[in-house]
Amino acid sequence: MKNLIDGYQQFLASADRSRYAELCGGQKPHTLVIGCSDSRVIPEDIFSAGPGELFVLRNVGNLCCTDNPSVASAIEYGVGHLGVSRAVILAHGDCGAVKAACHLEHLQEKGIRSWLEEECYNGGSLEEAIKSWGLRQLKRLEDFPVVKEAVEKGVLETSLLYFDLGTLRLDRYDGESWTAVLQEKIPVME
Ligand SMILES: [Zn+2]
Repeated sequence: MKNLIDGYQQFLASADRSRYAELCGGQKPHTLVIGCSDSRVIPEDIFSAGPGELFVLRNVGNLCCTDNPSVASAIEYGVGHLGVSRAVILAHGDCGAVKAACHLEHLQEKGIRSWLEEECYNGGSLEEAIKSWGLRQLKRLEDFPVVKEAVEKGVLETSLLYFDLGTLRLDRYDGESWTAVLQEKIPVME
């Protein structure tokens, strides 16, 4: 518990108190992010977002299985009630869920097994498999009624992003292919 309390203390020392006070009355996030529970992939860090900006659902493998009440309610609440203008699937490099789906038969735990059983590993490399995994999630997101309706009205755009852990590169799927969202070279830490 000590590392959590120490972290909270640091948070208190630098927290934007007036921003939190403003937010007591409600939230108006601009983006719904469906990301992975992976501890290395923190949407607020990657997008430099503060409190009130992102409405985030994180689960193992950034799944957008809309028949699951947790996933469905996050989308309905974010898109339908909060009126976000963007919904993003955030896939990432070295995703353990995608790797696990490659050998589902080896998974002993019932929970993970049933969570991942409808997924598949599809690609020549791990990165390809993760990106094609992300695409299936985007398709499910776009097929979900509240999302479909908002996109048709022109009030919501959907995106699929891939965050590469080693290089910090962020790729975006444009409907046909993937391109880095920023072309400049990102310095790699020695
Ligand atoms: Zn992951």
